[in-house]
Amino acid sequence: MPFLAYRNEMSDQGKELVVPEEVADSEDVECPSCGGRMRPRGGGPDQRARHFFHVRSTGGTSQCSGAGNNIAESERHRVMKSLAVSGLRRRFSGVESIDQCSTEIPIDVSGSQGRSAGRRADALVEFASRNRFFGEGVIVEVQHANESKNIPQVTADYLDAGYSVMWADESCFSKDEFLLQRFNSAFNEDGGRAFSPYRHSPQRIWSEFEPSEWFSTPDGWQFEDPNPDCSHEFQRDRGDAKCLLCGTQYQLHSESQFPMFSPGDRSQMHIANITYVRGADDALEPDGTPHVHIWSPENRGERSTVSTCSRCRAKKISSKSETVIDYNAHSFEQLETPEMQHCDHEWRRTGSGEECWKCGKPKGDDGMGMYF
Ligand SMILES: [Zn+2]
Ligand SMILES: [Zn+2]
Ligand SMILES: [Zn+2]
Ligand SMILES: [Zn+2]
Repeated sequence: MPFLAYRNEMSDQGKELVVPEEVADSEDVECPSCGGRMRPRGGGPDQRARHFFHVRSTGGTSQCSGAGNNIAESERHRVMKSLAVSGLRRRFSGVESIDQCSTEIPIDVSGSQGRSAGRRADALVEFASRNRFFGEGVIVEVQHANESKNIPQVTADYLDAGYSVMWADESCFSKDEFLLQRFNSAFNEDGGRAFSPYRHSPQRIWSEFEPSEWFSTPDGWQFEDPNPDCSHEFQRDRGDAKCLLCGTQYQLHSESQFPMFSPGDRSQMHIANITYVRGADDALEPDGTPHVHIWSPENRGERSTVSTCSRCRAKKISSKSETVIDYNAHSFEQLETPEMQHCDHEWRRTGSGEECWKCGKPKGDDGMGMYF
């Protein structure tokens, strides 16, 4: 069955390639193979997918099978969208009263936490009233080899706007139908291909995607934590976030915004500087990404530096050979490296106060916290 045709434009811009779901019943279109006249039909309840047929009396021939045997990838993509629309209409006719069912429908997702204000649904069926399981309607996104979409973000945006979404690929289509059995099982089995507002919250959708199945990482980077036994204390280090304990680097994957990691090279770290962590929490941001300390120095002595993370209030003290990150210290008085704990301090005046010349511990002011 033919699924591609030319629409004759009135202007000089030439012919526009169209798929059946984009053409009204009474509109004449042209067969790309034989030039004969075609019209669309089908796509209703209990009908085959909407397709074109040659109108014999107006010059088409019954022998022509239409364009479709050797179509380009991008055209097949358009045909699949049209098939998906027909499939959605068939699936929901008699089940829900349908408001609209078409290809390339703009969806307002400005209420979502994503960065995009609008998205365009490949195929959409929208209901007159909300369906308890599927929500306001169902979107089928047809995946395409040469097209990369931020699938988790698009899914979250559509769920947030109240729609279900299915990610369909070539295996969900026969030559001339959208396979509704695939559609139904994708939603029933909940296997990471189809998402409904009934089952999925847009805020938690990211945890349902295995990022390595959907995205590739730059060389040297991976989505799996290369050192899961480390509690990781990431801090900014020349633009990159790097773990003080193990050297693992961390950043967000630019396309998907998933955390990704690069295994650190321990041999390149300052082995002399041992890091201790006291009272660590699980160090995650509210969105689930790893926390990265941004240290702002409170005091820089000759032998030590004390600083506070401007984002989590952890405190850090570093001497030449030791660093302590303390999540519980209320003042810098309480902040000590093991070396400082075992030192018979001898105080010396330094640039910004007094510190022990042996271990670098900053001296408190009569037992009061010096820097508060
Ligand atoms: Zn033809
Ligand atoms: Zn680490
Ligand atoms: Zn922090
Ligand atoms: Zn000391």
